[in-house]
Amino acid sequence: MNTIQRNNINDFKKSVKGKVILPEDSEYNEARKIWNAMIDRKPGLIVQCKNTEDVIKSIHFARSNQLDLSIRGAGHNIAGSSLCDAGLVIDFSTMKNVKIDAEKKHAFVEPGATLADFDEEAQKYGLATPLGVNSTTGIAGLTVGGGVGWLTKKYGLTIDNLISLQVVTADGEKIMANESENSDLFWALRGGGGNFGVVTLFEFQLHTVGPEVLAGLFIFPHKQAKQVLRKFHELTVSAPEDLTVISGLRYAPPLPFLPDELVGEKVVILAAGYFGPGEKGMDLIKPLQYFGDALGQMIAPMPYADLQKLFDPLMTPGDRNYWKTHNFTQLSDGLLDKMYEYSDRFPSQLCELLVADLGGALNNVEPDATAWYHRDLKYLMNVHCRWQNPSEDQRCIHWAREFFEVSKPYASAGAYVNFMTEEENNRVKSAYGKNYERLVEIKRKYDPENIFHNNQNIKP
Ligand SMILES: Cc1cc2nc3c(=O)[nH]c(=O)nc-3n(C[C@H](O)[C@H](O)[C@H](O)COP(=O)(O)OP(=O)(O)OC[C@H]3O[C@@H](n4cnc5c(N)ncnc54)[C@H](O)[C@@H]3O)c2cc1C
Repeated sequence: MNTIQRNNINDFKKSVKGKVILPEDSEYNEARKIWNAMIDRKPGLIVQCKNTEDVIKSIHFARSNQLDLSIRGAGHNIAGSSLCDAGLVIDFSTMKNVKIDAEKKHAFVEPGATLADFDEEAQKYGLATPLGVNSTTGIAGLTVGGGVGWLTKKYGLTIDNLISLQVVTADGEKIMANESENSDLFWALRGGGGNFGVVTLFEFQLHTVGPEVLAGLFIFPHKQAKQVLRKFHELTVSAPEDLTVISGLRYAPPLPFLPDELVGEKVVILAAGYFGPGEKGMDLIKPLQYFGDALGQMIAPMPYADLQKLFDPLMTPGDRNYWKTHNFTQLSDGLLDKMYEYSDRFPSQLCELLVADLGGALNNVEPDATAWYHRDLKYLMNVHCRWQNPSEDQRCIHWAREFFEVSKPYASAGAYVNFMTEEENNRVKSAYGKNYERLVEIKRKYDPENIFHNNQNIKP
């Protein structure tokens, strides 16, 4: 940062309600830590905003001092887009308020809230909206990118449940975006990521969910992977929207129903959640145990909020991560062969291949109704390549890239921007399909100078 900017910082610090953290401050290293330990950026200042006014002042300060700008929700983005080197970070870690209007079934959520913060409040009233499957993820980044999770088949993407947004634009103006005000911006922010403005309040539609739901967890030997995944495919092609199943190839974590000697063995996991009424769930989930020779299993009602945290122990912060993703409309045998082959030589014990059964309500929205284009998606694959030692970087990244290439011929079009890695900006256009040109037009209107560019960038 140059001298003029240094001199201005004191005035700026005095003008905002939140804390401004500088490289010399003791909290700096903690404040610049994010979920993916691969990312090591050193911002010039981190503004822990207390309110929308702080966001407006931060944008003006960054612009008048020619500083790069990034926006941080809960810091989960795998590409590390919440941090910029030498620039200003608008950090929402102290704006986490969630308010529920139980009568209207609406939630008003600040951008620093995690999924856990949201679910905890909404579940006090037996309410929820589709979010992701790791409770530590940020509402803000997840929502502006789209949002997929357990309830997607039943109630759509997270963005399909958005009612209204309060946004600070690139000019530092506070506006609303919804179906009747700035509807072009509302359209773009539903999937277009952090390209168009800074959301300072989200309003969501809620649904009656839980507080208990029926869940199942089944563990099979890895050598039966192809058989189990084929049956997973057969089931999910026609399963009702009330049932969601997530499949995973990985090393077995400790589980209360799994014998100790199997922990650390390579396995196939099926996790199922039923969100419909009555007894039907048991009939739908029970057959999963016969998809192979189950090594362990459980079927039981559990609080919906606990289901939302089921995968948290597998996805802890602080490890090195390099992820890849594909969309699928079906799971062909050729793909299952490649999944088996590459999971048989995972480069680290932390790696996994996940395939989530989506579709349902996600498919019932027109591709041009929101920025999120690929509404034909039925399965979403996450290649979670994770490890701990920096000396392993090259070997692990190579494995993930190679698997990505060999599985590409079986994938359908596009990609989900929230699972894309840093160097995948060349996939952005295809991620938005025929919606891309309209997104460029809206970008030119709301952010012609591309000050919001630390994201999967839509260039004006
Ligand atoms: C362990 C793990 C599990 C995940 N599981 C799921 C899942 O089940 N479903 C799913 O859909 N995704 C999932 N994701 C992906 C997740 O949606 C993205 O990483 C998302 O960006 C995280 O949001 P965040 O606020 O934590 O991100 P951050 O890293 O803080 O922000 C990411 C980007 O979002 C934008 N952004 C953040 N805040 C705002 C704001 N207030 N206004 C405008 N733009 C903003 C900015 O461009 C920013 O760079 C997962 C990620 C991880 C690491």
